[in-house]
Amino acid sequence: MSIENSYLGLDFTISSSILIILIFSLLYIFRKKIFTFYYKDKSLGDFNNKLKAYLESTYPKIKFDYSIFQDAQKEPNPDTRRYLIIDNLVQQFINAKLDENISKKPIPKDKLWDSYVYDSKPDGNKLPKDWSRRKLLVLERDGNICQRCGTHAKPENAHLFNIKSLSDGGYFYLENLVILCNDCYKITTKKNIKYLDIKDALESL
Ligand SMILES: [Zn+2]
Repeated sequence: MSIENSYLGLDFTISSSILIILIFSLLYIFRKKIFTFYYKDKSLGDFNNKLKAYLESTYPKIKFDYSIFQDAQKEPNPDTRRYLIIDNLVQQFINAKLDENISKKPIPKDKLWDSYVYDSKPDGNKLPKDWSRRKLLVLERDGNICQRCGTHAKPENAHLFNIKSLSDGGYFYLENLVILCNDCYKITTKKNIKYLDIKDALESL
């Protein structure tokens, strides 16, 4: 073997093959660092699918519009894109309307008690003294499901809500009460909507 045709004493074909294998191995090992944008884009696609699946299974009563996935493509920074997408979906959740014409099955009369009718009439801003009893019956009737978004609400995170407000002549009859989850209660009563569980959940996906 002549010295002109060798590199480090090896045949040119062998040494160039080793070099090529080495380059491809390094590209493979550091692929995520080298092709950052490709992997961020791919993970954004996965993220969008995860978001959609989560929203549809957790809040089946809310019809989300996912056109933000397309619109956000214009934004070159993947982190900003994620932010725009989450913000848009949370806003849609906040803006969704509670169907005030929801008709609620009455609770069988044998489950009611003597002072039920009397205590169903509003007395100033006071809640009826049998509020927790009413809550249990409504939870059971609504299957622990928030009637605005459809999420499962644990009893400790569930709230009773008057469909027709007291100021509009609503009473505390069980037909006028529905179960709402924490988030929907905050939204319908316009309290603390900066701190919503849905936001934390979407950010942690
Ligand atoms: Zn809800």
